[in-house]
Amino acid sequence: MFKYFIFLILNTSFSLSTFAKQFISQIYFLELLLCRKCGADVADSYYLFNKPSPGARKTDKQNMFGKQNVTIQTLVNPFGVKFEIVTIEKARCDNIGPPQGADSWFPGYAWRICACPHCGQQLGWTFESGKNENNSINSFHGLILNNVLGENFTDSLIMMPKVYKM
Ligand SMILES: [Zn+2]
Repeated sequence: MFKYFIFLILNTSFSLSTFAKQFISQIYFLELLLCRKCGADVADSYYLFNKPSPGARKTDKQNMFGKQNVTIQTLVNPFGVKFEIVTIEKARCDNIGPPQGADSWFPGYAWRICACPHCGQQLGWTFESGKNENNSINSFHGLILNNVLGENFTDSLIMMPKVYKM
């Protein structure tokens, strides 16, 4: 508990509701995933799930974000840029642009860029299926590991990097 007060003092840009959410997620041994650029909470590790891409160059399992055996997939875009991603059912995304059906890593799903709703940094992609028989859309997100951070990582820092200060 004490470390959370320290955390709060260190990072006054965090709202009380974020503080409360962090405390609650800690009880359940899960972590919030933060935008690495601005520190906004963008997802809860509770919603991480395994969604294999047939295009994955490499698949790895690691214990991270308070969860065991989180699947990390290495995917490469048509420009040859490599990304390590985790798939998650829910995330706070500003979805940018119209859905793109071409070159999707997940066949049957169109993609849009998922940007941080706070600072606009790309976090990953949102994947959406076409409407099913219930007229609803299935969607999930692929988050770029380099662009998100587990809250407990920031907790262990003595000095907050400049980017986390508003
Ligand atoms: Zn951000």
